[in-house]
Amino acid sequence: MLPVTKKSKMRKRTRRSHHALKPVHLIACPQCSQARLPHGACPNCGYVNTHTKLKVSAEE
Ligand SMILES: [Zn+2]
Repeated sequence: MLPVTKKSKMRKRTRRSHHALKPVHLIACPQCSQARLPHGACPNCGYVNTHTKLKVSAEE
């Protein structure tokens, strides 16, 4: 199967204008100031919020 009509360069580039990747948004952990994802547990200390703290494997 072939395309019925050729898409112009502008049409192709306009379509691909939405394809760029956005950088990952990171915030600093209030406990250890390590970078972590917002609304996620800290991979270093397991901090989520003031009431919640997850257990992480032994620190070095
Ligand atoms: Zn942390």
